[in-house]
Order: sequence, then structure tokens, then C-alpha cells
Amino acid sequence: MSLNTSLHTALDAEMDKILGCIHCGLCLPACPTYQQAGNENDSPRGRIYLMRAVAEGKLDVQSPTFARHIDLCLGCRACETACPAGVNYGHLLEHARETINHEGKKKGSGFQKLMLKLALRHVFPYPNRLKAVFAVNRWMRDSSLMKWAYKTGFVRKVSKKADFALSLLMTTAPARIDRETGGRGDEATKVPTQHPTPNTQHLKPVSVFTGCVMEGLFKHTNDATKRVLEVNNCQNIEVAKQVCCGALHAHSGDLETARKLARANIEAFERLLSADHNPTNPATIIINAAGCGALLKEYGELLKDDPRYAERAINFSRHVKDATEFLADDEIRQGDPLNETVTLDAPCHLYHAQRVMTAPQKVLTSIPGVEYRQLEGMQDCCGGAGIYNLSEPEMSEGILSDKIEKVKATGAKVLATANPGCHMQLGAGARLFNADCQVVHVVELLDESYRKAGFYEKS
Ligand code: SF4
Ligand code: SF4
Repeated sequence: MSLNTSLHTALDAEMDKILGCIHCGLCLPACPTYQQAGNENDSPRGRIYLMRAVAEGKLDVQSPTFARHIDLCLGCRACETACPAGVNYGHLLEHARETINHEGKKKGSGFQKLMLKLALRHVFPYPNRLKAVFAVNRWMRDSSLMKWAYKTGFVRKVSKKADFALSLLMTTAPARIDRETGGRGDEATKVPTQHPTPNTQHLKPVSVFTGCVMEGLFKHTNDATKRVLEVNNCQNIEVAKQVCCGALHAHSGDLETARKLARANIEAFERLLSADHNPTNPATIIINAAGCGALLKEYGELLKDDPRYAERAINFSRHVKDATEFLADDEIRQGDPLNETVTLDAPCHLYHAQRVMTAPQKVLTSIPGVEYRQLEGMQDCCGGAGIYNLSEPEMSEGILSDKIEKVKATGAKVLATANPGCHMQLGAGARLFNADCQVVHVVELLDESYRKAGFYEKS
């Protein structure tokens, strides 16, 4: 029976915390898959048992039991927040998946999973291929035929699954925010509004990490983030040659590709972060996608065994902040009232992985006219989890259904989030379970409030 190296190493590194696991079970109520399945093996405690059994050679890594229970984990890391012993579950999960990928590769897998693996390996690391894929997706999303098929429910009549997949794409289109005035619809977003007016001359240097899904499908959110930062006295510095952060790769266990992408990003941002660039006023790397932000902040951990990059990775991660975290650190400039009822679903990788727990609410409640409504279980996973909604549709739908029922109970017409995967999942869920609300990124609401206040000049 094989003793797997990477899992063994991960367990070794965390052995003090693993041995500190007192099997208290405090993580169980926080775990969405345990709540849905009611099976100890689908709980954090059960999965840690399985990982340990594999590392100690008591369970074959190719055992379907091991792969199945590890596959079903969302990687939401709610268990880390709940755990009094500080077990670093997220890293163990990534190494467990890497182990399964290596040891189990001859066993084959479903067609959908294979396609996703190929996309992660052969599309996401290459900016030109990614651009082409997202251009096709945007063309589909914005085509009249697709809009007709979606709005009339034609696709839904053909296949519920296809309608859900289409919903994931359609919900990436810019939202209409302020209902009272008609707000910012598709037409208004075509107007370039790139000239905010900061109120002081002391600008803070920032660089928005544009990401791949964000720039490909949510460019309007990236643009809104840059405008909002500039209104709040920042100067955005564009960094060329940045690539996908590698989060989807790391979460699926392809740590080698994640490391390659991390090295490329460290090199791309290095000049900006170097001491001689601006020693008294260092730049901050701003990220508006929680899943990417969590990994960018963990590049130090990802590259800790790479002698050339370990220190540089730590330095990179030290400069990363989520957009809401950065804005909430200071006084947020006020715009015009929005007159919206708004609730927030906190992305797991913001709340649990980055421990940014209150900043999004602070941004939302800084907007005049916003009536903030607390969502029960705000920090619970929505079931999106990267590509989990495609790879594990049944479990994902059960979790999503619970989430949308709670959203409906708030009565809010706007559901704010801060991660593209959650955004798509929640948007598709709102359609699937008939919730009368639209999904937006937190900074988009602030941006709209600034637009109404006339902070942006049309060019
Ligand atoms: S990461 Fe989420 S789904 Fe996985 S064990 Fe932890 S709480 Fe459960
Ligand atoms: S909360 Fe932490 S210590 Fe308790 S069972 Fe879960 S992993 Fe172990």
C-alpha cells in the first residue's frame, strides 16, 4: 500500500494541530456537506480521519471511499472558523486532492470532470486562450437569441440542467441597480465613465488584480472597483503580465500549476512592490474576488518550499487586500442615496479563509439610502465553490436551495456578494428558486451611489 508523499508532508507540517484535534465535533454543525448528508465521513472530522488513514498506510489512496468523501467537500473552510484547535483544513484538503489526482489518474473519471481538468490545465494558465474563451462566452451572453431563449424560458423547457448552466452565464451581465430611478442598465454601462474626482492630493497607490474570470466576465465590476478606489483617493497602477491566480487549480489539487501561476504573478508585481518603487507609500494589491484573494494571501504557504520564491511570495501576500477590506480601513466617501433593500451573502473565502468578516457590511451601510437586512447564515456556503456546482450538482443544489430560502426571508431586492463564483451561483439560484432579487458585487452598489452623485465625468 502506497504512503503518499504530498499528503504525508501536509500531515507532517500540520501534525501538531492534527494531533490537537480532540474530536470535539464543533466543526460538524458548520459543515454544509455534513448538514446535507448526515454522514460523519462527509464532515471535517471524518475527512481528517480518512486523510490520516491514507497517510499512515491504513487506507488505500485509490479507495473509492476516500476519493468520494474528499470530492464532496466544498472547500468552504467553515470548519476552520469553528475549530478551537486551529486545524488548517484547507491546506490538508488541497494536498489530499493532489494525492488523488496523482495516484488515481489511471482510474478515469466522468466526462464533465475530465473537461474541467483539461480547461484548468490547458486554458486557464494561458491568457490568450482564456481571452478567446471568455470572448465567446460574452458573445453568447449578449446575443439576442440567447437572451430570448433565457427570458422566455425556452431553455428551461428543454432541460433544467441546461437552464441552470445558462443562468450561471447570464447572471454575469451588468445588473440594473437602482430601481427607483431605473438605475444603471445595459445602456448606461456602455458610457465610459473613467474620470472620478478625488478630494485630496495625497493619493494611495493601488493595483487592482484583474483576475481571469473577473476580467473575462465581470469587467464592469473591475472597472467599478477602480473607479470606487479612485474616488477614495487612490491611484490605480495597471500591472501587465499578471495571470490567473491559480485558486481553481489549488482547490482541485493541481498545486503544481497553481505554483507556476503564483510565480508568474509574483514576477509581474515585483517591481511595483519593491522598496525602491515607493518606499514611504507602498502599493496595495486590491482583489475583488474572494476565492482569488484567499490564494493570493497564501502564496507564501504555497511556495514555502521553493528557495527562489518563498520570501518573495511572503512579501507579495503581505500587500494583498480585498477591496472591501481596504475601503473599510478608512473613512468611505459618501455618494447619493440608492434607496435599496440590500442583504449580503459573505463568500466563504472572504469570511472563513481571509477572516474578513465585517468589511462588506461596513461598505454597504456607508451608502446612504441602503436598508441593510441581515441574512441568516450569511457566512454559510452557497454551494458554488468554484466548479463544485458543475461537478457535484445534487449536493450543490441542496445547499443553494437552503440559501435562497433564507435570502427570500429577508425580503431584500438586492443580494450583494464579493466573489464571481458565488455571484453566478446565487444569480442562478435566484432564478431556479424564484427569488425576486438581483445579485451584485458590493463595490457595484458604492459605484452606483457615486455615479448618481455625479462623481464621474463622461468622456
Ligand atoms: S471545507 Fe466546508 S464542506 Fe469541507 S469539511 Fe470544511 S466545512 Fe465541510
Ligand atoms: S472542530 Fe477541530 S478539533 Fe474539533 S473535531 Fe473538528 S477538526 Fe477536530
